[in-house]
Amino acid sequence: MNTAPCPVVVAVGSLHYDIMVDAPDRPRKGETVTGFGWRPKFGGKGGNQAVAAARAGADVRMVGAIGDDDFGRFLLANLTAAGVDASRIAHIAGRGSGMSVAISDSGGDYGAVIVSGANTALDPGILDDATLWRDAGVLILQNEIPDAVNLAAAKAAKSAGVPVCLNAAPHRSLTDEFIALVDIMMVNAIEAEQFCGCPVGDVAAAVGAARLLSSRFATVVVTAGGDGVVGLQRGDDPVVVPAIPVRLVSTHGAGDVFAGTFAAAIAAGSTFAVCLGLANQAAARHVST
Ligand code: ADP
Repeated sequence: MNTAPCPVVVAVGSLHYDIMVDAPDRPRKGETVTGFGWRPKFGGKGGNQAVAAARAGADVRMVGAIGDDDFGRFLLANLTAAGVDASRIAHIAGRGSGMSVAISDSGGDYGAVIVSGANTALDPGILDDATLWRDAGVLILQNEIPDAVNLAAAKAAKSAGVPVCLNAAPHRSLTDEFIALVDIMMVNAIEAEQFCGCPVGDVAAAVGAARLLSSRFATVVVTAGGDGVVGLQRGDDPVVVPAIPVRLVSTHGAGDVFAGTFAAAIAAGSTFAVCLGLANQAAARHVST
């Protein structure tokens, strides 16, 4: 019998009810495109990463917020069905749940609009709970909830001795106080460009961006879509993991699956290279299904 303790991931972040639209093309300014169909999907970077970490075998505790509506009930049901501990999801009276509309084109690319709704009403006080941090192996954060909540979460994690992983998506400027609390910085190519101010169009450029970011963060991960991923731990050589060749269906949510799987592997105590490899495999499976 395996008696090893289950790795614990704390995910603090957004929950969105996603409306996924399939269309031949994404509309340009002023254009109306006739789509093939649409479906609702559980989403929000926080929720997606929590579910990905749970699927990767972690015991996941999520802190987030939903509105008092059917979208919120859908989000809660999905979290629970995925085995995520949703007991710290705040129910915000009088607010709509976060939502998004994403349009995927026939090439597998997408564009999205998000409305944060209840996610902006998350109270940092919810993080003052010793049971949230007990035995936790990592905290995973993204940039879809207020800065004040991310800062409070990072501070609480550090006081509990829990490493902090920030998936800095979408890009926004970060305070020095917050940067000092982040152990692992994870960005995609677009965010890397926004942080570094130089184009990140291939693996060599992703390595360059990781080197620039490593002056501020001890560990940096730059995901590079179909090129794979670059990881850099300060003082070591970069680790480059090529993407696994797959038949592309949609890249929507690839970064979230990568981040959640990576967090589960960190919490399990895997080496950096193994964490990158497991996350790369899970993300490749995701983009091909
Ligand atoms: P995001 O979804 O945040 O834009 P990326 O596009 O960089 O993130 O994708 C995240 C990860 O998903 C990549 O590092 C890779 O592991 C995997 N991935 C993305 N696109 C592909 C692809 N075409 N083939 C195989 N794996 C992919």
